[in-house]
Amino acid sequence: MAAIVEKSALYVPTLKELCEVLQDGLKKNFAEVQVSVVDCPDLTQEPFTFAAAGLCGKPRIADVGGVPYLLPLPQMDKIYNLNTVAEQVELPGAFLLGASTVSFKAVGVNAELMPNVFAKGNGKPEVNHSYSARIDPATGGFILEKYGEKYKTCDFALLANLYISEGKPGKVVEVRSCRRTGQSNFVSCMREALAKQFGDKPVAMGGTFLIQKGKAKIHVMGFDLRVEHTHCFSHHGEGGHYHSDTTPETVEYLGYFLPADFLYRIDRPKKT
Ligand SMILES: [Zn+2]
Repeated sequence: MAAIVEKSALYVPTLKELCEVLQDGLKKNFAEVQVSVVDCPDLTQEPFTFAAAGLCGKPRIADVGGVPYLLPLPQMDKIYNLNTVAEQVELPGAFLLGASTVSFKAVGVNAELMPNVFAKGNGKPEVNHSYSARIDPATGGFILEKYGEKYKTCDFALLANLYISEGKPGKVVEVRSCRRTGQSNFVSCMREALAKQFGDKPVAMGGTFLIQKGKAKIHVMGFDLRVEHTHCFSHHGEGGHYHSDTTPETVEYLGYFLPADFLYRIDRPKKT
């Protein structure tokens, strides 16, 4: 049975307005903040190594499934596919980026998924640069894997929070924040600033960020309410679900973001 897709329009502030709001909000939590409109860096290059070059072109957010499909017991039939999601958000061949859960059919266990896929479409095959992170039963540590390469699937399970676009170069909001002075993590701080400025106008932002200095607290598997949801990976074997940095005095964040035009709720759980 085809999943129910609910589409809603979002309020889209100008990039300039977004810069001002984020600058003010982040200043309350970070010693140094610089927010500006820039050309999106080529995300296919290090340190990103993404499937697409940019974050631009018809930006939208998809919220697929949800926590009620995980708890109290995972519903094993809740398997979705990123190529299908691209079609469901009316953007076949789109670039999808975000936070999700692996297909247990592919991996054999539950694990965190960092989706990073140029979906198939427009006569081209998919490009799958997704990572996954699972618990190493021997050590209790993480095993970070190239999900796309190893499992060769665009399937995911239970839930996903995705930023979707045409993956083109273009103008984005660049956010630099150094030395955290407040309690809120980088993402919460931006979310709180948007909520304060725009009130009940629905605004959603997606993108990517680097932790250039410092360390982050991450976990593999554990669930909470998804007003924000961030997954991460490094090029030295770590990855999972982002909480915050653990080194506020030295941390440096560099992020690239865009506001989305539409929100798509796919296969929303009946009870939350
Ligand atoms: Zn997560």
